[in-house]
Amino acid sequence: MSNDLSNLDAALARYPRVALLEGKTPIQRLSRLSALPELNGCNLYVKRDDLTGLGGGGNKLRKLEFLLGEALAEGADTLVTWGGLQSNHARLTAAVAARQGLACELILVPSAVRTDDDFRHSGNLILDGLFGANIHRLPDGANPDVYAAELQDRLRQQGRNPFFMPLGGSSPRGSLGYAACALEILRQAMDLGLEFGQIIVPNGSSGTHSGLLAGTTLTRTSTLVTGYTVLGTAEQALAATVDKTRQVLQLLAPSAELDEGSVRVDGSQRGDAYGAPTDAMLEATRLLASHEGLLVDPVYGGKAFAGLLASVRRGDFPAGSNLLFVMTGGLPGIFAYRSAYA
Ligand SMILES: *Cc1c(COP(=O)(O)O)cnc(C)c1O
Repeated sequence: MSNDLSNLDAALARYPRVALLEGKTPIQRLSRLSALPELNGCNLYVKRDDLTGLGGGGNKLRKLEFLLGEALAEGADTLVTWGGLQSNHARLTAAVAARQGLACELILVPSAVRTDDDFRHSGNLILDGLFGANIHRLPDGANPDVYAAELQDRLRQQGRNPFFMPLGGSSPRGSLGYAACALEILRQAMDLGLEFGQIIVPNGSSGTHSGLLAGTTLTRTSTLVTGYTVLGTAEQALAATVDKTRQVLQLLAPSAELDEGSVRVDGSQRGDAYGAPTDAMLEATRLLASHEGLLVDPVYGGKAFAGLLASVRRGDFPAGSNLLFVMTGGLPGIFAYRSAYA
C-alpha cells in the first residue's frame, strides 16, 4: 500500500506543476446530517475542495496546477479556454492568469435553459471581469472549439503564445490534479483511522471523476468512486469517464489496466439538461445548508449531493458506512441562479 502511494507520488512528480492550493483541503464529518434517522446510520464526510484559496476556490484549481505547469513549460503568455457563461473553470482560469501575470481569453457560450439577467450577468461573470479576463460571448449555436482555434491563430499573428485548455480543464494532464487528490484523501483517511466505502463526486467534463478513479486504481484501494453526471447522459458520461481514466492511467503507469466495471456513473440526478435546476437539487442544497452551514452549487454539487442523499435514504449502504462527498466549489453560481431558489 505505502509502496503504491509513493509510486504514484513519483509518477505525478514527472509532470510540471505550479502550486495553487494552500496545502491539503480538510475532510470534515457532517455530524448533524449523519444523525438524521432517514440517513440510516451512515457517516457522511466532506472533502472541502471548495476551500482552495485562489479566486473563490473550487475543483478546477487542482487541474490548473498541472495545466499551468504545462503552459509555462511551453512558454505560454496567454491562457485560453471555454465554457458556459457561469463556468467556474473560466473564472478560476482568469484568477490563475491574474496571479501568474498572464493574459486570459475566455470563450463563453450561452445556456439554452437559463436566459435571465442574473444568469447572463451575475455570479461568475462579475468575477471574470474583476480578474481582468478578456471575454468573448458567443452567439447561440456557435462552435466554441472552432472559435478557439481561430482566436489562437489571431493571437499568434500578434506575436502571442496562447495555451488552450479544453472544457473544464479536463485534458489528461489537467485530470492528474485529481489523481493527486486521491492520494491526499488516502493519506488523510489513514491519519483519521477511517476507511471510506465510497467517494462521491459530480461528473461534468469527467476530469475530476477520472483523476480520482485513476488514483484509487493505481493505489489498489477498495474505495469506490461514484460520479453523478450533470452534463451528458449516463451513457455519454460513462464512455467519457472510461476514456479519460485510461488516458490518465497512460500518463501515470502505461501498463496499468482499467476494470471497466469500476467506472460508476449515475444518471439519475441530471434532470432535463445541464444547468436545469431539479427539485432534488434544491432540497439537498437546503438540507446541507440548514444542518451544516455548508453550500453546494446548483449545477454540480447540489445534484451530486442529492444523488448521495437518495442512495443513503434508499438503504444502499449498511449502517456505519463512511461516505466521502467531494465539495467542488461553485458558490458564485448560487447568485446566478437567484430565481431558482425564490
Ligand atoms: C467543473 C465542476 C465540476 C465537475 O468537474 P469535472 O471535472 O468537469 O467533471 C463539479 N463541481 C463544480 C463546482 C465545477 O465547477
